[in-house]
Amino acid sequence: MELVWQTRSAGETEDFGRLLGNLLAPGDVLCLYGDLGAGKTTLARGIARGLGVGGPVTSPTFNLIHEYDGRLPFYHMDVYRLSGTEDMFDLGYEEYFYGRGVTLVEWAERASEVLPGERLDIYLEAYSGEPDWREIRLFSRGKRYEELVKELDALVRTGH
Ligand code: ADP
Ligand code: MG
Repeated sequence: MELVWQTRSAGETEDFGRLLGNLLAPGDVLCLYGDLGAGKTTLARGIARGLGVGGPVTSPTFNLIHEYDGRLPFYHMDVYRLSGTEDMFDLGYEEYFYGRGVTLVEWAERASEVLPGERLDIYLEAYSGEPDWREIRLFSRGKRYEELVKELDALVRTGH
């Protein structure tokens, strides 16, 4: 299942993330793809809000991971600086991907070898040449994520 959503401001991207975050369950894994400035961290912030995380949500570029306590644990990774799959082992990625929290990975293509087969893939892209417009494309990989995208689709189509 695929869902395509367009936003015209950072706030709209965050709102969309919040809706998605509301629907997340223990063990969910979200993989984000897109260029620098595409809006991955902005979307992650919205998702964190939907998980009940208050306070600042900033890019974990230098730390690789930030952990938050919302209604579920939220693990926010940015693996841009990853130099190889070995770094993912050092990070202890299995504890996150196969644990009871929600894991979100920015620059997921850099960790492709260790991503779980079942996950939600999210692509962000600027479009139309308008500086604040973004297209967000969601692809479900596996049954759990089919359901999730279906639920989100119903929500956004009815204007929440
Ligand atoms: P990334 O994590 O992909 O590098 P960020 O979320 O850190 O991207 O940065 C995106 C930048 O683009 C922010 O400065 C944000 O305010 C801006 N922006 C403008 N329009 C949008 C939009 N529609 N969605 C998300 N971010 C947007
Ligand atoms: Mg980022």
